[in-house]
Amino acid sequence: MSQPDSEAVSRREFLGSTAATAAALAAPARGAEAVAEPQRRPVAIASANGLRATARAIELVRQGADPLDAAIAGVNIIEADPNDLTVGYGGLPNEDGVVELDAAVMHGPTHRAGAVAALQGVKHPSRVAKLVMERTDHLLLVGEGAQRFAIAHGFPIENLLTERARKIWLRWKETRSDIDDWLPPPESPEDAELRRYLRERPTGTIHLSVLDLHGDLAACTTTSGLAFKIPGRVGDSPIIGAGLYVDNDVGAAGSTGRGEANLANCSCAVIVELMARGMSPTEACLEMLRRVAKRTREARLLDKQGRPKFNLVFYAIRKDGQYGAASMWRGRRYAVHDGTRNQLKDCAFLFER
Ligand code: ASP
Repeated sequence: MSQPDSEAVSRREFLGSTAATAAALAAPARGAEAVAEPQRRPVAIASANGLRATARAIELVRQGADPLDAAIAGVNIIEADPNDLTVGYGGLPNEDGVVELDAAVMHGPTHRAGAVAALQGVKHPSRVAKLVMERTDHLLLVGEGAQRFAIAHGFPIENLLTERARKIWLRWKETRSDIDDWLPPPESPEDAELRRYLRERPTGTIHLSVLDLHGDLAACTTTSGLAFKIPGRVGDSPIIGAGLYVDNDVGAAGSTGRGEANLANCSCAVIVELMARGMSPTEACLEMLRRVAKRTREARLLDKQGRPKFNLVFYAIRKDGQYGAASMWRGRRYAVHDGTRNQLKDCAFLFER
């Protein structure tokens, strides 16, 4: 087990500061005597595909943007990127060859959230999720209803299936069974390239959490979900408490990886709670992974040593600026802009092969 991290602030200092926050909340308001807040260093943390997103988010919070607007603008870069096979436009489709997107947003200062799931034809589901938060009394819209809501707000309906994603899907479809009538193409360099994606079930998503200069937090998770999923399958990404969670007094957390394992454990809400009790972000992410591993009991999901075969990655920021990420298996990275540098770092991990 490893913990490369930014753990510069001690547990006692952090608990002291949350106690101060609680005392401030309990105290009567004294608006006339308001004192200017100290400026802090902003932080943006994301999955490894999010380096451009963290850069954009920090640029925007430095210009005074709301942390949620900054997070959404960051992930929009990846949603629009045809080369990212796991998010938005260019994402791998469901088993019918249709791209279905899931996204959620959460805004720390107002503790409001919004989400969409199994949304077809809209390139930026994170923007629709924000509108669900702002312009409805609901928190989650799915499928056709989510699409009609997006159309009402002026979003164009587009074909999100790129040629590359279609070819990878077709290769999967032509080879997944010996008892149907689809045949794979003849061997060719292109076919070898496509097969590369099918050695393991492709996964991915972008999560991005932001801490702004005033200590306010926001988060967004957006994905095309599990490649070749059963139509209508919804993963963890759009579920508040699983794919992301923010408590503006404590911190934010997000997830990528096997959504079903995360959903069964409400991991991000628990990670934020563990941080509230004094754990560092990395400790909280590792503790949650331990719980997921311990609760995974189906033999088909376990290796010979009883360890989960799948990967799951958690990312967290605490309100004091400390951050960390951890994955079930060694070898994952995450993107972080700590207000000074934007870089990829190694995740802490539970198991190694
Ligand atoms: N968590 C996503 C889902 O289960 C997929 C991923 O992050 O790879 O839909």
